[in-house]
Amino acid sequence: MARAAELKDQITDYLEAKNQITVGLEIQEKINERKEKIKKLLNADENDWHNWQWQLSHRVDHLDTLSKIINLSKEEKLEIQEVEQVYRWAVSPYYCSLMDEFDTHCPIRLISLPQGKELADATGILDPMQEEQTNPAGVITRRYPDRLIINVTSECSSYCRFCQRRRNIGCHYGMASQEVIAESIDYIKNNKEIRDVLITGGDPLILGTPQLESILGKIRAIPHVEIIRIGTRVPVTLPMRITKDLCEMLKKYHPVYINTHFNHPLEISEESKEGVERLADAGIPVGNQMVLLQGINNDKNIVKRLNQELLRVRVKPYYIFHPKSVKGTAHFKCSIDEGIEVMEHLRGYTSGLAIPQYIVNAPNGLGKVPILPQYLISRGKGYFVVRTWEGKIVKIDDK
Ligand SMILES: *Cc1c(COP(=O)(O)O)cnc(C)c1O
Repeated sequence: MARAAELKDQITDYLEAKNQITVGLEIQEKINERKEKIKKLLNADENDWHNWQWQLSHRVDHLDTLSKIINLSKEEKLEIQEVEQVYRWAVSPYYCSLMDEFDTHCPIRLISLPQGKELADATGILDPMQEEQTNPAGVITRRYPDRLIINVTSECSSYCRFCQRRRNIGCHYGMASQEVIAESIDYIKNNKEIRDVLITGGDPLILGTPQLESILGKIRAIPHVEIIRIGTRVPVTLPMRITKDLCEMLKKYHPVYINTHFNHPLEISEESKEGVERLADAGIPVGNQMVLLQGINNDKNIVKRLNQELLRVRVKPYYIFHPKSVKGTAHFKCSIDEGIEVMEHLRGYTSGLAIPQYIVNAPNGLGKVPILPQYLISRGKGYFVVRTWEGKIVKIDDK
């Protein structure tokens, strides 16, 4: 009984903090109101709104339109005008409906709207991951022995301001050509140790279903490819893209895994919930790759709430990425200590299923490095000394 009371005490702070963190589903009425306003502004009906191609072709990428959707100060407008000379920006009408009209610190706004700080970043580098140096063929990045990524497009439904590939995504248009994709698939064919192919971009799910199917079919036909993965932010920024047709198509190429990219509980709305649930219903395990971002989610309670809410919609938190030193993104940087602090408050305090791995990428494309709080205190012959999630130091006899 005493222990149970002690454990109950461990969660009171979080329960209080949790109430201050808004999940999209909790403000769905507000989101629907904004949607009606945006529909009216863009002369759209309900069918248009649910049509992903309409959403794509009506991405908000003009200041005039944006300023009719949310309140922008003179200063913010100026900053957007300055930044758009250098980096492109665009937000799907759906993702705009998640933005707070008045709060300049709204996470959705910070994720998707240009800020003057992007131009003031003197330290960032264009390609910190050296992807250009780890490209053996076509649009492939190979950094590991048995798997690789293939970047089929540099288009997205909305552009994240912290994008790690903004050198080719934030600046210009690009769908990989048939030839380049064919060359990439040939590389996979000719390298028998590749058993896991990750299709990413840009966002591969903004390709048309037949176009995507042609790529999937060719990859699936390679006998040594065991699993196919798709990296996509579409469930978050363009959930109407997750159509029944798309799911029916994807199912034919199982095992298919999808990793998506929710950064904040506000992104879990009715639409995104239904989108990821359709994927899960099609037998596709859906994981989440969050990026730790200053002012958006570098907070133990926000991350905990996000991960718990993701589990409710059948998305398994997979990775938390430490932000990279990409030019133009310095204002999103966090310290590794902040990431460790977030991890410290997950293990033990909440379901193991809600605990992703925290990953810092080694420079020069040397790969992902997992970082954990220090649980192993010391070791000697026949024993380990460890710290439990609550900070109790115990000795464990080893074999
Ligand atoms: C992240 C990444 C992968 C996938 O890594 P996992 O840890 O297996 O999820 C593969 N190739 C490249 C180049 C990557 O950056």
